Amino acid sequence: MSIYNGPMNKNAAKSHFSLLMSPLNLGYTVLKNRAIMGSMHTGLEESWNGYEKLAKFYQERAKGGVALIVTGGISPTFSGRLSLFSSQLSLFFQIAKHRKVVRAVHAYETKMCLQILHAGRYAYHPFAVAPSAIKSPISPFSPKALTGKQIKKLIKAYANTARLAKRAGYDGVEVMGSEGYLINEFICSNTNKRKDEWGGSFENRIRFSLEIIRAIRRVVGENFIIIYRLSMLDLHKEGSDWSEIVSHAKQVEKAGATLINTGIGWHEVRIPTIAAVVPEAAFTWVTKKLKQSIDIPLITSNRINSPELAESCLQNGDADLVSMARPFLADSQFVEKAKNNQSQLINKCIACNQGCLDRVFKQQRATCMVNPRAAYECEYPLTKAESSKTIIIVGLGVAGLSCAYYAAKRGHRVIAYDAANLGGQFNLAAEIPGKEIYRETVRYYDEQMSVLNVDVHRNRKVVFEDLRDSDADAIVFATGVSPRKPDIPGIDHSSVIDYETAIKNKSAIKDRVAIIGAGGIGFDVAEMLISDDEKNTREDKWYELWGVDKQYKNRGGLLNDKVNHEARRTVYLLQRKDEKPGKNLARTTGWIRRLTLRKAGVKMLSDLSYEKIDDFGLHIMHQGENETLDVDNIIVCAGQQSETALYNQLNDIGQPVFVIGGAKKAAELDAETAIREGMELAYRF
Ligand code: NAP
Repeated sequence: MSIYNGPMNKNAAKSHFSLLMSPLNLGYTVLKNRAIMGSMHTGLEESWNGYEKLAKFYQERAKGGVALIVTGGISPTFSGRLSLFSSQLSLFFQIAKHRKVVRAVHAYETKMCLQILHAGRYAYHPFAVAPSAIKSPISPFSPKALTGKQIKKLIKAYANTARLAKRAGYDGVEVMGSEGYLINEFICSNTNKRKDEWGGSFENRIRFSLEIIRAIRRVVGENFIIIYRLSMLDLHKEGSDWSEIVSHAKQVEKAGATLINTGIGWHEVRIPTIAAVVPEAAFTWVTKKLKQSIDIPLITSNRINSPELAESCLQNGDADLVSMARPFLADSQFVEKAKNNQSQLINKCIACNQGCLDRVFKQQRATCMVNPRAAYECEYPLTKAESSKTIIIVGLGVAGLSCAYYAAKRGHRVIAYDAANLGGQFNLAAEIPGKEIYRETVRYYDEQMSVLNVDVHRNRKVVFEDLRDSDADAIVFATGVSPRKPDIPGIDHSSVIDYETAIKNKSAIKDRVAIIGAGGIGFDVAEMLISDDEKNTREDKWYELWGVDKQYKNRGGLLNDKVNHEARRTVYLLQRKDEKPGKNLARTTGWIRRLTLRKAGVKMLSDLSYEKIDDFGLHIMHQGENETLDVDNIIVCAGQQSETALYNQLNDIGQPVFVIGGAKKAAELDAETAIREGMELAYRF
């Protein structure tokens, strides 16, 4: 059952792994032994009492059957911290808190590795160091170039962290060598301009990574896992070429690594690698390509979010093990459900980044949009309420579904109504290219409503008389929003449609379109209008569009020329504010969305006012000039208003009413808040 116990020599490692590599057609039992929970920083690492909470967080995943857990990145030195207050492990007293986490995980059959991450020039503080003093485009701080003496000291610091990890009880370490962090900066010539033994030739540039592995192996002995996360596809012009990747991997193996994990892209590169627009398992071909040359087991990763997909990567021979990170945020019981052939009960990661990475960038604790309990297991334990109550829920968009789910899980009797079917705004989102996966969340909740015996009434519009005399303990309104109709002369012209109608009837939209409002939904609608392709066709074109070369002819795995999107329509995306359209979109995906529209030639205009709409199109005043946009359709994406009429009526007669989601606050409401509010309210009952 264990992932690696044997001594560290190649043959022993292979024979041990042959256990794991026994017939691949055993269904999900194979996955149980090969599912790795990839490294994710939660923010608990730095918070007060954080390791108690981390222990619970990881333990729930260990109990759920994951074979090996890799922690979030922990720095070996002060200068290597991601930010000033990020975690570091270099002193003996620091291991006590790690012990708590390891013990919690070891209560099950799960192994645990500590990830050692030195941020290099990505460090967000003035003490950043790097091979050369070259600032990264994504940090305001210029790094200092390391001296030769400092490099040698740093190698010892990595080994020291590994030694302490072993003392804390970890089964191994993962050395973070990819994604543009320090080790990767040594390897690539754009960030390494050194003239000494650590720079210049490729052999010199990989010396740092190899010396680190050797130094770690020396101090930890043979029976300790060393995973090396190797950048197999840098996705920038001065990245490694394929022969260098192979040569580096072979030397990593020789230096004493137990496993090699796949790293894709640098954080500063403007090519998406994990967002929802990236095709599923988009990069496993790289791991497979390397597999022919390497003896130790390889781990593949990126956009693998279901047992079926993970299993097919293994069956396909892409890799020996599969690493998934966000899917274990979304569902801690992923492996257990897969093993029991209950894949339909898995809460799938929809790669939105809203609950996890976007929150981490805002210095908030990571969680998961579709599973707001993730990393909040201590605050929201899976316990029953003291007494069972009757809860009525009106509106089964994601806020209502989340409330129904947690209320039923806590032992309450839940009766729920929706004027349509389940899912609300998520059904619209799922119509947007690249967001089809949002349907999975609705499907998941639908399954759970049956599992938890929620009394669901679909296509049933509740009216005042239905609830006036209700004796329920609580009536929850999750009635959502309706599109705002702005006050523009001619707004009732036949060319004008609201976004809901547009998304539901996209084939009826003509060739020249203006979108009023450049918020999240304006961007969604623009993306829908520029591409009518089916999912498969779109995914086939994805590599070309973003310049990724599956033939790997050039350095970094890039195509010579990126192609622009052949937009199906002429699209204007408009806003009144004088600021960059999409400025407030999420940090980790906003740039992808802006770039996608730019590539497709969408005309994004700010600083304007809407004058009128008539047969000639949309008349605007743009930066002091009158302009007429000659368009066939005008789609209104000007925000929403809350649907609260019934809530107000019942509140007035003293019924125990509660309101959540868009019905509570339409302005700037996002799905992450809506789902979290649903859970938080359920825990109050
Ligand atoms: P939004 O983000 O608030 O944007 C509304 C847009 O309408 C703004 O561009 C605003 O710009 C414009 N507007 C507001 N009042 C107007 C008026 N009276 N006349 C004309 N234009 C007006 O709302 P949304 O796009 O409907 O999105 C709703 C929520 O869903 C947001 O919180 C959003 O973050 C979330 N969402 C997120 C995603 C995502 O990908 N993460 C996708 C979809 C939705 P001006 O006032 O400058 O004209």
